[in-house]
Amino acid sequence: MPKKYAIHTKPAPNRFKAITPSGIIAWEEGCLKCAVCVKKRCVYRVYEQRGLDSRQMVDSIDNQCMNCLRCVQGCPKELIHKSSNPEFKSLGDTHWTPDIIAKLWAQAETGKIPVSGAGYPGPFSGDGFDAMWTDMSEIVRPTRDGIHGREYISTAVDLGKTPRHLVFNEKGELQSRIPKFLDIPIPVLMRVPSFGAVSEETIRGWAMAAKRLGTFLCLPVHQGKKHLDRYRSHLMPILPEGLLKSGRGLRGLRAVELPWTETWDEALNSVRKAMPSALISVHLPLDKAVKQRALALARAGVSMIHLEGSYSGRAMDDDSTAMKDVLRSVHRALIEEGIRDEMTLVASGGLALAEHVAKAILCGADAVVIDFPILIALECRMCRRCVKGLSCPVEIEKAEAPWVASRVYNLFGAFHNQLLEVMGAMGIRDARRLRGEVGRAMFFEELDKPVFGTLGEVKEGYELE
Ligand code: SF4
Ligand code: SF4
Repeated sequence: MPKKYAIHTKPAPNRFKAITPSGIIAWEEGCLKCAVCVKKRCVYRVYEQRGLDSRQMVDSIDNQCMNCLRCVQGCPKELIHKSSNPEFKSLGDTHWTPDIIAKLWAQAETGKIPVSGAGYPGPFSGDGFDAMWTDMSEIVRPTRDGIHGREYISTAVDLGKTPRHLVFNEKGELQSRIPKFLDIPIPVLMRVPSFGAVSEETIRGWAMAAKRLGTFLCLPVHQGKKHLDRYRSHLMPILPEGLLKSGRGLRGLRAVELPWTETWDEALNSVRKAMPSALISVHLPLDKAVKQRALALARAGVSMIHLEGSYSGRAMDDDSTAMKDVLRSVHRALIEEGIRDEMTLVASGGLALAEHVAKAILCGADAVVIDFPILIALECRMCRRCVKGLSCPVEIEKAEAPWVASRVYNLFGAFHNQLLEVMGAMGIRDARRLRGEVGRAMFFEELDKPVFGTLGEVKEGYELE
């Protein structure tokens, strides 16, 4: 059994006041001057501590109010109201929603699983991974308690090729050649996102977190500068297109990534020659050609393939196709060919929540790569001002590396605990066994027709009796 893996988080406070979903409006006009005003009864004492941050123009009450609504309901003249905050609603976009952004901020700050209260108020089903549920039926398999440490649930996975079987001689000595593979204690790698107000210090912070967590940070090779030397063992540089003439400057690296090109085999051979001991991952866009390309790479002995979906978790060339469906088809094709266990599939693109990690693995990935969550962990508002060359409202480029590392470490701590929760409830004790376990998942599209199809077309507004 691998060494028990734990992520010990500790609070890493925000540098800026977070934008909150709602604010308090308290009118003075018509106030009865009650002997004991409801504001004095706030258990969080937010009115007493109220102050205005003039630099950020934020009323402290908006961040401290816990939304219990006691003051709103208690004022006899109904002078206190909660109002929704338009600034919060305008955060991010349709994929990186305000709710997802706020959850990522909270996880990076506290390291804790976000809890939204009793019951689930959201929709029954949705797009992409929202059309997928994990089966947590205790009847089929008993649950496991991993999060409180009473049972050990391993989240470790292998990157690279693992042997199909081992051969021993008569003396019991191992005869098989063990191929190169690396194991990581959590099935999540990170990658420098495609935009962001990122400085060398930010990247150093991400690299620090990758090393501390035992995972990898993927980054364009030109960003892997001298100041990252002590984290090289946990960097996975993305090499430029074309042939690699020598391995100079790549010493100490255990893994590299190669972009897909039509001449991938020549590029692969040149990297194999220059870096014989490194694990080589080939990066494939998740598009219509991905299945054939993945099969070609696997047949050629490529031991790791990185499938990249779009920014919003869809196929790169077809916005109507969800990443989960393409992932499943690639995974199935490799099984049919009998080569699935000879390589590792990692998936990236639009993965925003801990549940996406478990769901991508259920669809056939061995591990995932997250990018924007590690930027949002640093209070990014996904406003894209940096893309236009404008200043970053939360000055990410000025954040110091240890703070960056602790925020990302916390985020991984929260993700890890959620993965333990999901696996525990599914009765699965090893993340390697989660891969492709679609028997433990339900898909809306597959259930919708057989269950509701016989009802025929349901008119809008129709109600079942
Ligand atoms: S809603 Fe509750 S927490 Fe918020 S200010 Fe009123 S009493 Fe305090
Ligand atoms: S907050 Fe806006 S400007 Fe700053 S990194 Fe994020 S997207 Fe870029």
